[in-house]
Amino acid sequence: MSTQLTDNSQSVAQNITRLNLLAPDSTCSTDLAANPWDTPAGYGPGASQEDRVPAGYPVQGSIPEEYLKASDEDLDARILAAKETLGEKAVILGHFYQRDEVVKYADFVGDSFQLANAALTRDKAEAIVFCGVHFMAETADILSRDDQSVILPNLAAGCSMADMADGPSVQACWDELTALYADEADDGRMPVIPVTYMNCSAELKAFVGRNGGLVCTSSNAATVLEWAFERGRRVLFFPDQHLGRNTAKAMGVPLEHMPMWTPRKSLGGNDEQTMKDAKVILWHGFCSVHKRFAPAQITKAREEFPGVKVIVHPECPMEVVDAADAAGSTDFIQKAIAAATEPTTFAIGTEINMVNRLAAQYPQHTIFCLDPVICPCSTMYRIHPGYLAWVLEELVAGRVVNQITVPKEQQGDAKTALERMLAAKP
Ligand code: SF4
Repeated sequence: MSTQLTDNSQSVAQNITRLNLLAPDSTCSTDLAANPWDTPAGYGPGASQEDRVPAGYPVQGSIPEEYLKASDEDLDARILAAKETLGEKAVILGHFYQRDEVVKYADFVGDSFQLANAALTRDKAEAIVFCGVHFMAETADILSRDDQSVILPNLAAGCSMADMADGPSVQACWDELTALYADEADDGRMPVIPVTYMNCSAELKAFVGRNGGLVCTSSNAATVLEWAFERGRRVLFFPDQHLGRNTAKAMGVPLEHMPMWTPRKSLGGNDEQTMKDAKVILWHGFCSVHKRFAPAQITKAREEFPGVKVIVHPECPMEVVDAADAAGSTDFIQKAIAAATEPTTFAIGTEINMVNRLAAQYPQHTIFCLDPVICPCSTMYRIHPGYLAWVLEELVAGRVVNQITVPKEQQGDAKTALERMLAAKP
């Protein structure tokens, strides 16, 4: 696992004075430009993708009106004062895709697994404030000590991709698959190994841990698939079809051996022979942000900027990854830009907050987002500074609000799945 993590103690955000040279010209949803408090009660600011809070998830209630009415300057002063008072007792984590107004308070900026691990370096931290989305806070809770509290400032900050695979649907799929493969000759390998992307609920991390499988990130998906192919005849990959397809295709798995599993359809909508011939079974899930990228955007970038280097995230559709110069995780993208010694034009296919931050950090390069329409991760956007001020001031008052706690019965199996991933690392 990469440790390319930004220690934000020198405040990345202070350096952000230069806006993207090719700033996108509109937003994917008018809700993103609306007053952050105007969205329906309990659903947080920034709702734009019509995603639902899954049944059983804690729902964000209203917070004191003073946070809603506070000016940006007031919130800034209150957050900084609370942070100062809490000192080492709290660590604030900011995901790469988090908005700058929040990231500027983070002690660490990185991807979800890097951040969960970064929190472990702060021994004195009693509270881990995760400015990301729900599954990230769950992962931090799985990895943190029992005496630490993990806090998600707005409980409505979920991940629409993670929500596309729920426990009952995956269990139903698993039951069908194990019944289908029950009469196969035993060659010492499991008929199918479940692999989940980090972007899923703790319930599903526990599911794969319990069933001989493991977790992967976008950095190590190929390593994890190799591990699984050594031990199983097939892989059930969820929830992101694109990461699964792009990774397996690069490893030489033919597309005809990667059927899509559509939940609530018999055999996922496939016939028996297709499922028996399958090498990687792809769950019908995707990221609403990365799904927006298209090959036409790459064609246009190449026409307008001859020599442009196109780098996209593997959550993008296969056609986009195929047309790009390179594809890789957020960490890969950041390292590729950092490694460029000559001024270079980069067209990036990932979330806009990260792209704009890279553009500000590397002014010697021209860096822009492939998508001309601003489309941030709308669920992560729900972490407004008002929510951050609220949870921090509650901590100062000795109260823990918005704590994310993974049930004890899921902790062990989920940790097993994460540990297998670390052990699979070359
Ligand atoms: S960018 Fe996509 S996958 Fe990442 S947290 Fe947002 S919705 Fe989920």
